[in-house]
Formats: sequence, C-alpha cells, structure tokens
Amino acid sequence: MSTPGAQAGHGEHGTRGAAAAAAAAGTRLDPWFSSYADRAHGMRASEVRSLFAVANRPEVVSLAGGMPNIDGLPLEHLAEMTAKLLRDRGTKALQYGGGQGEEELREQIVEVMRYDHIAAHPDDVVVTTGSQQALDLVTEIFVNPGDVVVAEAPSYVGALGVFRAYQADVVHVAMDDDGLVPDELERTLTELERAGRRVKFLYTIPNFHNPAGVSLSLERRPQIVEICRRHHVLILEDNPYGLLGFDADPLPSLKSYHSDGVVYLGSFSKTFAPGYRVGWAAAPHAVREKLVLASESAILSPSNMGQLSIATYLSSYDWYGQVKEYRQMYRARRDAMLGALAEFLPEARWTVPDGGFYTWVTLPAGLDAQAMLPRAVTNLVAYVSGTAFYADGQGRDHMRLSFCYPTPERIREGVRRLSSVVRAEAEL
Ligand code: PMP
Repeated sequence: MSTPGAQAGHGEHGTRGAAAAAAAAGTRLDPWFSSYADRAHGMRASEVRSLFAVANRPEVVSLAGGMPNIDGLPLEHLAEMTAKLLRDRGTKALQYGGGQGEEELREQIVEVMRYDHIAAHPDDVVVTTGSQQALDLVTEIFVNPGDVVVAEAPSYVGALGVFRAYQADVVHVAMDDDGLVPDELERTLTELERAGRRVKFLYTIPNFHNPAGVSLSLERRPQIVEICRRHHVLILEDNPYGLLGFDADPLPSLKSYHSDGVVYLGSFSKTFAPGYRVGWAAAPHAVREKLVLASESAILSPSNMGQLSIATYLSSYDWYGQVKEYRQMYRARRDAMLGALAEFLPEARWTVPDGGFYTWVTLPAGLDAQAMLPRAVTNLVAYVSGTAFYADGQGRDHMRLSFCYPTPERIREGVRRLSSVVRAEAEL
C-alpha cells in the first residue's frame, strides 16, 4: 500500500482564511452565518454522507457505504425478546438511566472485551450512543483548538469530522500492509515535539482498518504502545470490527499491553445491529470520570431501551454464533470483491483484508478517484474517493470499496461497471 508519510493537516491560519472566504459567500445565503462559532465553519457533510442519496438508488451498486448487512438477524427472537423486556421491565427500559450506562450491560461488555485480551472492570466502562459519541467525548475532553491529533493515513472519515469540529490539527502517519509504521510514528512524534506542538492522542484502528482494510501486526502492537508511552501520548484505540476477522481469533488489543495509556472504543453496531446505537469507551479511571461528565452534559444518559435490549440479547441468544455467521457472510463478499478486482481491474492495486468491510484501492497512475465519481454514478456504481479519508485533501489516487452490504453477485457487477469507468477515464 502506498501511503505518504507524516503530513500536517489544516493549520489554524488556513482554516481561518478559508472560513473568511466562505463567510463572504455564506452571509448572502444564511442570515445567521456570521453568528456561528468558529468550529461550525469547519463542519461539512462527509463525502460518504453526501453520496448516500444517489448510492441508495436501487439501480446503483453501492460499494460506498459501510452499512452492515443485518439480514441474518433473528428478528422473531428479537421481537419476542423486546415484548418480554417491555412486559417485565418496561418502566425501567423506558426511564432515564445513569450517565455511565447500565451496570448490567457494562458487566457484559467486560466479557465481550475478553476476546480482545482486555481485563477490565465494569467501572472502567462508559456506555455511549454508538462509538461515534465516544469519539466525540474523548476529543471534547482532550483537544483545544490547534492541538495535534495523530491519525493513520488514511483514517476513518467520521473521526476526522469530529477532530475538525474541535479544531484539531490532524497529522497523518503512514501505514503499510502491517498497519501503522512504528518508525514513522516515532519520527512524527519526535518532529512534533521539537516543533513544540502538543500531541493529545494517537487515533488508531488496529483491526480491519476503515478505510485501509489492513491490520496492525502482532509484532508491531507492543512497539506502537511503547512509542506512545515514551512520548506521553494517549492512544485512542477504535475497534468496531475486531470480532469480524475471517480466519483467526482477534489479536491482543493495544489496551491489553498498557491499560492506563489507552482509551478503547467498542461497538455493537457491526457485531449485532447499529440501530440500537450502543457503543462504549473503556478508559483509565480519571479519564472515565471526565467522559461520564461530558456525556451527561451532552445526552443525560444513553438509551435504557437500547442498553437493556442489548443486555437481554447477549444473555438470551448465542450472540457469538451470530458473529460467526456474519464472519462467513462477509468473507464470501470479500472473496467476491477480490476475485472481481483481479478479473476486471488488474491494473489497479488493492489491500487484502482479513476481516471487516473494506478494501483500499490504488488506481493506475494519473487517475483521479474524486473527479471520476460522477461518471461512475452515471454508470450505476458508487464508491468513496480516497480524499474523504485525509484531513488535507490527499488521496485522489485512492478509493475505498466496501463489500459489506451488496450480495456477491452485485459486488462482481459493481466492480465490472467500475472497470469500464476506469478504462474510459484512462483513455481520455
Ligand atoms: N469507528 C469506525 C472505524 C467506524 O467504521 C464506525 C462506523 N462506521 C464507527 C467508529 C462508529 O460506529 P458506531 O457509532 O455505530 O458504533
């Protein structure tokens, strides 16, 4: 995988300059434009979100979204479970709860994290509205405008949106097929230190990376933890796909090496269902207290209905069996994607994911995934341009292809359509 080395993201001045230019245009359209906080000027629809409307048309094969395929869920069981929950404990499920989340669920989350080799206590866990809210809370409590957040190149578009909203400066660090490159991280942190910059945390997705499709090797895990420990940089470990490995059990999480140095984020969105909007953070004690306070001021408490539904599902159903079914389904789709790429797009390069939802494609030299997108949509196939996954506009020669949602046949058809777009573009 070719990813450039450390690159500074939007500087404070660049962001302000852009905001001023936008202000001139914006005031004509929105009478409240000049009232917005500085941070609101940096907010824009992610490229993934703005694609949703077209990509969801039935005639389009969408290789764009990261929506899990939940057709295999035991809906009858869930219907009975929900009815029973409301009958037996309805006034609890429909009431406000505590800011940290229900203890009953936090105890089960501790068991789920054992698969990632984490030995935690229910007190260490904060339940959140999806891990997305946890990303927001961690950034809120650590990042002042202009502080540096170090993230992989490329990185999760939804996290970049949060970092931008809190006016962080994102500095990307290169990955290769074994994930984040320790030497590059070391060099970047040293350079930032010399430049007097405050690095607040390393944001990393060690397993089945979104969007890169690669995983951090076993050998590199303690190295990354050690580098951050030496530089006194907190690690924000985001692990929504960790249980969705196709071939092997999960590798030890970064948190399992140095619990006090890592805030770990988990989610039920990919291993069960995203609609409940339940995720969590497991954090060192003092950080956990701040997270609870920040969450209470944002949402008072996470949904009791969602939490108790998940707690009941985990205790009344073979949830790990369901995870194994998901793995098999996604593996068949991954195989369809890689097979179709080899058949139809041999001139490109792509990563080979061992789990998760995505592969990261490098286009033949000179092609621009962002410029090509309208033509792709006209040809009834959608993807996300690589530019969405960087804070600084790089990534035009890349695209993220998702294999999670369409059937294997549709994936093959989508890649076939994509190849004709690439051919046509290459000849222009
Ligand atoms: N982190 C990553 C890497 C993701 O891919 C996603 C979902 N696309 C999230 C966090 C947020 O997931 P949720 O809020 O549904 O838990």
